[in-house]
This record gives sequence, C-alpha cells and structure tokens, in this order.
Amino acid sequence: MSDDIFITEERIEGAEDGPLAGKTVAVKDNISTDGVRTTCGSRMLEDYVPPYDATVVSRLKDAGATIVGKANMDEFGMGTTTETSYFGETDNPAAPGHVPGGSSGGSAAAVAAGEADLALGSDTGGSVRCPAAFCGVVGIKPTYGLVSRYGLIAYGNSLEQIGPFGETVEDAAQLLDVIAGSDDRDATTRSEGDDANYADAATGDVDGLSIGVPTELLEGADEGVVETFWEALDELEERGATYHEVSLPSVEHAVEAYYVIAMSEASSNLARFDGVRYGHSGGYDGNWNETFARAREEGFGDEVKRRVLLGTYALSAGYHDKYYKKAQDARAWVKQDFDEALSEADVLASPTMPVPPFELGESLDDPLQLYLADANTVPVNLADLPAISVPAGETDGLPVGLQLVGPAFGEERLIRAASALA
Ligand code: GLN
Repeated sequence: MSDDIFITEERIEGAEDGPLAGKTVAVKDNISTDGVRTTCGSRMLEDYVPPYDATVVSRLKDAGATIVGKANMDEFGMGTTTETSYFGETDNPAAPGHVPGGSSGGSAAAVAAGEADLALGSDTGGSVRCPAAFCGVVGIKPTYGLVSRYGLIAYGNSLEQIGPFGETVEDAAQLLDVIAGSDDRDATTRSEGDDANYADAATGDVDGLSIGVPTELLEGADEGVVETFWEALDELEERGATYHEVSLPSVEHAVEAYYVIAMSEASSNLARFDGVRYGHSGGYDGNWNETFARAREEGFGDEVKRRVLLGTYALSAGYHDKYYKKAQDARAWVKQDFDEALSEADVLASPTMPVPPFELGESLDDPLQLYLADANTVPVNLADLPAISVPAGETDGLPVGLQLVGPAFGEERLIRAASALA
C-alpha cells in the first residue's frame, strides 16, 4: 500500500521529546523538507531537494515527531483526486478502487491506512477537507493566517493554508497545536494561535450549539450523501445542539470566482519554474524562448498547463477587469454572506463533498465535473474562514464527510463540536 501513498519514503527523526514524541507524520510533497526531495507531484520538480525546512516541518521536528515520508498529491495541488500526480494514482484505503480525494490524497490515505498517525496537507480550495471526507478521516483547514506558509510551494497564496489530518478530531487538533502560530518568515500570519490549546477543546460538548445549514450547499448533492449528513446532524441534536436553515446566496458564483483567482495566482507562481533556476530542464540550444517552452512542455502535466494558460488569459490586459476583478468582487460578496450567516448561528454545517469518492479513472476526462465537486469547500477559502471535515457515516459503503465552518480564528469551537462525532 505504501508504494502509492508516498513519493519519497524517508524517516526524519525529530527531537527526543515533545508533544508529538512517538508519533509518525506524513507530509504532503509540496511542503519543503531540508535535504529530502520535494516534488509537488510534478515531473518539473522530480529531482528538487530543498535546502531548508518549511516552518511547519521545523515545528514538527521540535515537537518530537517522526516524519515517515512525503505524501503523494495532485500536481502542484491542482486536482480533487490525486490522479494528476506525475508519480501515479493513490488508492483509497477506506474504499479500495476509489480515489482518495485531492489534492492531499496521499496524506489522508497515509492516516486511513495506518501508515502514519498524523499527516499534513494544504488546502487551497478543499484539498485537506476533500481527502479527509473521501478517506473517512478528520481534516482541518485553518483560518487564513493561523499557520505559516513559509516553505509551502505556492499554488494560490491568497487562498491556501497548511492543515492537519488525524484519525480523530483530538489527534488533528494536537497537530494543529504544534503548527499554528505567528512566524516572522510569513508576514500573513497572525498571533491568534500562539497560545491556543486546540487539543483541550476536543470535549465533544455541543450542548446549546446553534448550527446553521446553508440550503445552497445541499442543492445538487448526491441523495445518499445528504441522507448521511442529516443523520449526523440528528446525532448532534440528540447531544443538545439545534439546527436551522440559513442562506448563502453568493455561493452560486463561488466555484467560478475560485477558479479564476486560483488559476491567476497559479499562472504567476508557476512562472518561476523555467528549468534555469528551478526544475526540469530540456537543455539549452541557443534560443531562450524555446528553452523555457520545452522545460514547461516536458515538466508540467495537462491540468497544470490548462490552469497556467487560463490564469494568464484572465490576468491579461483587456480581460483583467472582466475576469480577475469580477472574481475578486464575488469573493468579497461570499465573505459578506458568511459573516451574515455566522451572526445567525455558531457554526455552519454541510456535506464536505456533494458526492461520494469517484472510482479510480472515472473522472479524469471531465475537468468541469471535478471543479463543480468543490462547490462546498471553495467558498470557505474565498472567505478566509476555518473549517473541519469529520466522518459522518457512509453511503453504499463509501465514506461521507460533514463540514463545519466557523468564524475567523474559531478553530476551538469547530474542534469542540466536531469531536462529538469522531
Ligand atoms: N480541487 C481544488 C483545485 O483543484 C482544490 C485544490 C487545493 O485545495 N489545493 O484547485
């Protein structure tokens, strides 16, 4: 099993003691590890060995964790199935023959298969929550600015956060305790997590909790998924929570806005991979334009090329206002809607993914279908908010995740509520 979970299997021992002593951790392969290959699931970085650790990796080491490998992922984080990895697909340990979700599929699969106690992923538009849901484990997408992105190879900087996976909410919260908090090397971090104690918040106490259910996030979802979702909400109700419907009218534009912003940021971030300073080189033959073009032609896969092309188009003169600026306006609207809904409820609940895991190979030819599967996760990144995916049950033997969304830096509230379920 581990063959398809890890791109690089290398044990990196942390400090002798610390809160994670004795724990094994899998690290997504877009998070830099000093002296250990970090590929982003791409041929472009097949041989890239970073000369430094990401801040989260230094914190893991200081906390006594043992890193057991670099986990497989969709190329540069672009995908929902881990099938766009240059190194091949990863099977889903909780539903063999199905995708583990993406883009942090290897990380979630490592925890689900028992290959690691904990794992780190990154979530630009759902890449921690989707694989958590598909593999039947817990995943947290922190508030933007809670966790340092220093050493995370960027896909969409304004959207993404590194987040933890665990088998239980308490496990994931314990890892969040180690990685959260301000960092001089990432000016977008904030100090809210510096003294937080997330693991202690995993009490499972939902007495009096008011849950808002955004009706828009149930529309178009698979029937079995919705049924499992309501069963989980009933369980929370039995423990003292209440729920009512709320509305997020702007989320019908969220997938479009997300993809315009994510692709635009990607096109600018990936420009550094030219085969000269970084990455795969097809060799120099006297013409720099052709040299760059060849490095990218050979180094990037189809999904990455599609996004760089579309993102470059959206940012180009004449189209910038029509696409990029409009997407930013939609983003502001989505944020406003969440603020309003969260003034009417403590947390918001929905299925994490509107569908159960696809069969391996099933979705490869239909990028649009995959983009639409992000409908419930991408709005949260547009709004910079925290969210957690926790196992809600199964439909036809396939795992279903429940997503809870909270106010900015409301991770403790999410952990308290989600720990009633796992
Ligand atoms: N599926 C989304 C995308 O392809 C999310 C990716 C992510 O969160 N890294 O962009």
